[in-house]
Amino acid sequence: MSSPAPGLITSAGAGRFAPSPSGDLHIGNIRSGLLAYVRARQTGRRFLWRIEDLDRVQPGAAQSQLEVFAELGITPDEPPLVQSDRLEVYAEALNRLAGQGLVYECYCSRKDIQQAPSAPHSPPGAYPGTCRDLLESERERHRQRLDEQGRRPALRLRTDNAEVTVHDRLLGEITAPVDDLVLRRGDGVFAYNLIVIVDDGATGIDEVVRGDDLATSAPRQAHLAELLGLPQPSWLHVPLVVNTDGRRLAKRDGAVTYQQLRALGWTRDDVFAWMGASLGLAGPKDAWSSIDDMVSGVDFDGLLTRETVFVPPDGSGD
Ligand code: GLU
Repeated sequence: MSSPAPGLITSAGAGRFAPSPSGDLHIGNIRSGLLAYVRARQTGRRFLWRIEDLDRVQPGAAQSQLEVFAELGITPDEPPLVQSDRLEVYAEALNRLAGQGLVYECYCSRKDIQQAPSAPHSPPGAYPGTCRDLLESERERHRQRLDEQGRRPALRLRTDNAEVTVHDRLLGEITAPVDDLVLRRGDGVFAYNLIVIVDDGATGIDEVVRGDDLATSAPRQAHLAELLGLPQPSWLHVPLVVNTDGRRLAKRDGAVTYQQLRALGWTRDDVFAWMGASLGLAGPKDAWSSIDDMVSGVDFDGLLTRETVFVPPDGSGD
């Protein structure tokens, strides 16, 4: 592992919650964030908050997400890190990878990728490598073509499609092939996998607790951490809350946000009682009624890995 680049400074011992400010948090997002906090408190880590606002931002959502957590008794230990303030740091990380010869321009549209035959030995769904080894003259031609369409090339990571395994405290080994993932999109937005691991490294996040829909991203992020000389965090992916069809809970399922549930008469105690019941864990009292009850009541070693179904109280999700 090489040493971290300047600007990618690391310190030790923190967990985090990193919601995208794309709207109000639903009860499933909230549960993942509460669990991240509980784990940080149980293990003596700082609890940090990151506003992942490079994509899909709803004005006011970041503030309202923080307010919901404050109402539930949680304030982060440091002011939130805002991704849109950190574009230079991400550019520097990208340069570092480019300096290792690991970045190339990709001119493919989504359709190009879908229609391209997959490369021999590459994992299903992997980028087929169309733009990996083009001649400079071919690149020039593609740049011109994109320019005429008002598009810009994306930047991809050069990989050998090797499988990477990480260990998850709850799920055990997670193995996934790391393909030539996008580092910066054609619209200039830095890609999720790159900036997440850069920020985790910069803020000393040494354990990532988040929803298990992101479990398969962990090998990619671990691979990028390795290339950037950043320490590998440990991983703990918690089960999701789903709707009655078994799909990830979403706004269209009805009253699923804290604000909606409060409007329907749920109290804070009801929220914590639901957390306790949904996690199948006994609290110190009959039901949890505060974040402190959760900190003393959650046992990560006994946490169920199966999903929880949430039925909105007014039945509007039916
Ligand atoms: N911003 C991502 C989300 O809201 C989470 C990123 C992460 O925890 O790594 O789904």
